[in-house]
Amino acid sequence: MRQFAVIGLGKFGASVACTLAKLGCQVLAVDIDEDKVQRVADEVTHAVSADATDEDTLRALGIRNFDVAIVTIGHDVLSSILTCLILKDLGVAYVVGKATDELHGKLLEKIGVEKVVYPERDMGARLANALTSSNILELIELSPDYGIAEIIASPELVSKSLRDLNLRARFGVNIVAIRRGDSEVRVSPGPDDVIEEGDVLLALGSTESLGRLEDIS
Ligand code: ADP
Repeated sequence: MRQFAVIGLGKFGASVACTLAKLGCQVLAVDIDEDKVQRVADEVTHAVSADATDEDTLRALGIRNFDVAIVTIGHDVLSSILTCLILKDLGVAYVVGKATDELHGKLLEKIGVEKVVYPERDMGARLANALTSSNILELIELSPDYGIAEIIASPELVSKSLRDLNLRARFGVNIVAIRRGDSEVRVSPGPDDVIEEGDVLLALGSTESLGRLEDIS
């Protein structure tokens, strides 16, 4: 079982911590604010009130033994940076940092954080994409240029096999899964899989190619 430390229990951090716990992971939740700690205490494995910018405290919590540390301190940029720096110094292998803007994100990258997330920016972009596109239900951005889109299969695609559609060659898009009805998901569909009416395609590709696929969908 993987061990996660979530540092900062604002709205985003609390949601990350509780979701990881529900998924069966061991979760240590840390916040400087005792009230925030109490709110998640019943859900996670350990909940501790501590100042994460204090190296001795993090060391005493055995933080270096955790597989992943997620630093969701956002608005207090200095605390976020100090915490990430200490975690990297202590030898945590995989640190995820939440950034409130590009500059904050760049600083986290310079420190050597493995992954920077921008939840507010990304949620805004996803919502805008979902609202302006009739066929794209959801767009998960993997990078500024690449993503996974959930696209409703158009009549153009229905009754054709993936081999016939040849989407990889035509659009540079890979279909990683097909969702059919409420419960069926065909993961890694093969060339002989045939698209049915109402299918939702999970397509991986560049944002531009996903847009072109959506145009014919
Ligand atoms: P959100 O937008 O997700 O609510 P915030 O940036 O407002 O994110 O909240 C971050 C959380 O990090 C807050 O609960 C705050 O108490 C906590 N926090 C801030 N500084 C520290 C620190 N030095 N050590 C531990 N937790 C901290």
